[in-house]
Amino acid sequence: MAELRPGVFPAPLQDPYADDCTQPFWDAALEGRLVAPRCTRCGTFVLPPQPYCFGCQHDGFEWVELPGTGTIYTFTVVRHPLAPQLADVVPYVGAVIELDGTQGAGARMTANVVDCDPETVQIGDKVEITFDQVSDTYAIPRFRKV
Ligand SMILES: [Zn+2]
Repeated sequence: MAELRPGVFPAPLQDPYADDCTQPFWDAALEGRLVAPRCTRCGTFVLPPQPYCFGCQHDGFEWVELPGTGTIYTFTVVRHPLAPQLADVVPYVGAVIELDGTQGAGARMTANVVDCDPETVQIGDKVEITFDQVSDTYAIPRFRKV
């Protein structure tokens, strides 16, 4: 397991699994870029990536690079460790981020908000993405307040 840091949910407990739908997301993450698939028929962003559009069931997407900034839509502060070995990680913030560049088109992302006092986090806070490279193949997206 990677080094445990207060406020940072460790990646090995949520090891991502890439498939044909999600590989472009992880490839971009390794380069420090946030991309999302947008339906070529109706314009809906589909995050997390899926084989079919939520809005119209179309299976054609274009990958769009997003600015990597956004707004906290909702959040929770996890104070109780999910496992005994996570005692040093709590409290941490899990949030749903409304991504800039996608308003009205359905892209929100669930992520850990790091490098902050969890007691200061509020709905509406502006955040920016940061990528935590945890292996040769994965960089985990997290957010920090701006
Ligand atoms: Zn669609």
